[in-house]
Amino acid sequence: MSVALLEIRNLEVRFAMRHVTLVALRDVSFAINRGERLGIVGESGAGKSVAAFSILNLISKPGYISAGEILFEGRDLTKLGPQEMRKIRGNRISMIFQDPMMTLNPVLTVGTQLTECLHAHRELSEPEAREIAMERLAQVHIPSPEARFDQYPHELSGGMRQRIVIATALLTNPWLIIADEPTTALDVTIQAEIMDLLLELCESQNVALILITHDLGVVSQVTERAIVMYAGRVVEEAPTREIVRAAKHPYTQGLIGALPQQTESRRRLKQIRGVMPALTEIPPGCAFHPRCPYVLDVCRVQLPGYSIKNGARVACHMVAAQMQTEAKESES
Ligand code: SF4
Repeated sequence: MSVALLEIRNLEVRFAMRHVTLVALRDVSFAINRGERLGIVGESGAGKSVAAFSILNLISKPGYISAGEILFEGRDLTKLGPQEMRKIRGNRISMIFQDPMMTLNPVLTVGTQLTECLHAHRELSEPEAREIAMERLAQVHIPSPEARFDQYPHELSGGMRQRIVIATALLTNPWLIIADEPTTALDVTIQAEIMDLLLELCESQNVALILITHDLGVVSQVTERAIVMYAGRVVEEAPTREIVRAAKHPYTQGLIGALPQQTESRRRLKQIRGVMPALTEIPPGCAFHPRCPYVLDVCRVQLPGYSIKNGARVACHMVAAQMQTEAKESES
């Protein structure tokens, strides 16, 4: 049986505040294979970025991983020291942040940043590093790469800067790219170009992609499988086209109902009322119950387990009851 490139098992992340310890991720499990594209979707505060940052051991204090495993090529990243982790970060796993200026150093030219990154991970002469950097700039369709090489980030447009960040992420031929809302800070017209570019590069180089976003529309364009998170927990996982076609969890249905291309009648039916609870106010039972149009008595007191069918899973009492009824009907 082939081993997943990355497998997260029962991950829990806590934040130890002065008077209370908050649980930011609970029992999060998922896996991604080589060359696969996985979307992690949810509103702000759902825990998607915490999940991504945990993979790279970038959770800063007072946050910490309190349980679970993060297996990358079979090695548990939660057990690695800072030096071993640095070798994996930016080498085998690259990250693309929402704001390109979080990655780019404003006082160094594009060329210096690219070649310094290469020197940090590989033994290369200056001309060799320059040649690879130029190749990567061409791959991300930067016009006039020779000229851009000597420019500073502030001399470039937002879209161009995000292309440079993608070029940087690709420098070391990573196996996995984690992109955290990579287009949110960009103009709408540029967003589609950047997503197309990421898709093209991941496909051509067989790089796996974890795309973190609040936008199910973007996930449906780029990924093959999606997980939906709510209040630090995975509430639904399925092939992306199945999620978009027939989401089962009421929260996912609400996200789809909010997509702009939905008809007005469907939007009225499905749009979610209320907001994601703060970590200090996560309700008992199903955390979504105060917002759920289908809430049952059991939802207020009991955390729903996963109902699994045809490679998909859903954490919802109502869906579990529907599946049981369907199973009984097919037996009789
Ligand atoms: Fe709604 Fe209950 Fe399902 Fe939660 S478990 S999503 S409250 S029906």
